[in-house]
Amino acid sequence: MCICVNCRWVDRCKTYHSVERQHGAKHLTLNPDFDPKEPIIHVSLIDKEQISTEIEWDVQACKSFCLDHGRWLRLRPNEKVPS
Ligand code: SF4
Repeated sequence: MCICVNCRWVDRCKTYHSVERQHGAKHLTLNPDFDPKEPIIHVSLIDKEQISTEIEWDVQACKSFCLDHGRWLRLRPNEKVPS
């Protein structure tokens, strides 16, 4: 689970913007202006029934993380929270 979905900077963050791009997801903002300190991105390869491989990007640690529980969901109510 990407910690960004519960971070107050998620809709301004340049790293989260990159994660969205890697997932082909709709951006929360087109112009991120926040540079996080030392985000650590975990990249995993997921085998999809031996037919294809998906790459998943998750921020697992970040010195700029600031807890704002449910921030992503409040910005995108009724959408599925990225996992
Ligand atoms: S946890 Fe770090 S990388 Fe993720 S949205 Fe917050 S500041 Fe950006």
